[in-house]
Amino acid sequence: MIDPFGRRITYLRVSVTDRCNFRCSYCMAEGMTFLPREELLTLEELDRLCGVFIELGVRKLRITGGEPLVRRGVMTLFRSLHRQLESGRLDEVTVTTNGALLARYAAELAACGVRRINVSLDSLDPERFRALTRLGRLDEVLEGIAAARRAGLKLRINAVALAGLNDHGFDAMVAWCGSEGHDLAFIEAMPLGETGPERVAHWMSVDEVRRRLEERWTLQEIDYRTAGPARYVRVAETGGRIGFITPYSHNFCEACNRVRLTCTGTLYLCLGQEDAADLRGPLRAGEGNAAVQAAVMAAIGRKPRGHDFDAARLAAGPQVVRFMSLTGG
Ligand code: SAM
Repeated sequence: MIDPFGRRITYLRVSVTDRCNFRCSYCMAEGMTFLPREELLTLEELDRLCGVFIELGVRKLRITGGEPLVRRGVMTLFRSLHRQLESGRLDEVTVTTNGALLARYAAELAACGVRRINVSLDSLDPERFRALTRLGRLDEVLEGIAAARRAGLKLRINAVALAGLNDHGFDAMVAWCGSEGHDLAFIEAMPLGETGPERVAHWMSVDEVRRRLEERWTLQEIDYRTAGPARYVRVAETGGRIGFITPYSHNFCEACNRVRLTCTGTLYLCLGQEDAADLRGPLRAGEGNAAVQAAVMAAIGRKPRGHDFDAARLAAGPQVVRFMSLTGG
């Protein structure tokens, strides 16, 4: 699959549910309403769609949400994707999770061929963590992370930078990730979904994060890259890696190799644009996959050049109405 800008699409993110056991203040509204269950694709349907994308050249899948591990029976999807990994049709399956259910699932994920996961963790202070997530318990997440390490998974901790909410704890995070051997990534809050004024009031650029870290740590440029948009440095004092993800810069889009499938079978071509394709209709129209393939290819043919998030327009409200929890992080 090659889009109009010559980018090869090899990476699919699949949001398996819009539900979550947390309500992070920059991600969701407090009184969030979720999709009626009958709108969701079954796990078999999601698996079938993944198969279509793999036939069309996708080599890497990330399972996300909502919180992917709250979807009942989600391991059946991982088991099926494991077969795709074993047959060599797929290079990598990864997961983005808040970690709360990892203690239960880490070993099974590893057995299904998952090697690396991202755990979202914005603060190591239990009270701050509770306030940010509204429902989360830090000890559960730390237990989940420990279980993931025991299972042999490599971790990247993702933290959204929020001035006045978690910035006092960045040094502690760098020290902890360094000593535990986790990569760490700082991410700027994006204008997705009507979450209220907090996200704007606490917005912080990753340039600012980097400037503050440099007061305490020696950050060395390195070449390390993953399939994603993070730019990495090494912390001389800990040997750990830190990534900086700035969705507001343009190079975020130039190398974009991904599209995003929601739990209702909608394919979004860009996190920051509304254009989408319905795959549920063609999927349910028949047993064969030709109609789905055609719909996917037509959509790839109109993948936009990029999003145009503008930090200067943040205060004007969300630039994309759907929540991150729907499109999948
Ligand atoms: N529940 C899983 C988790 O917590 O990782 C997966 C879904 S969550 C939507 C994925 C990532 O998106 C998390 O790291 C979260 O912090 C991030 N996120 C959510 N809303 C965001 C926003 N408006 N701007 C930037 N990142 C956001």
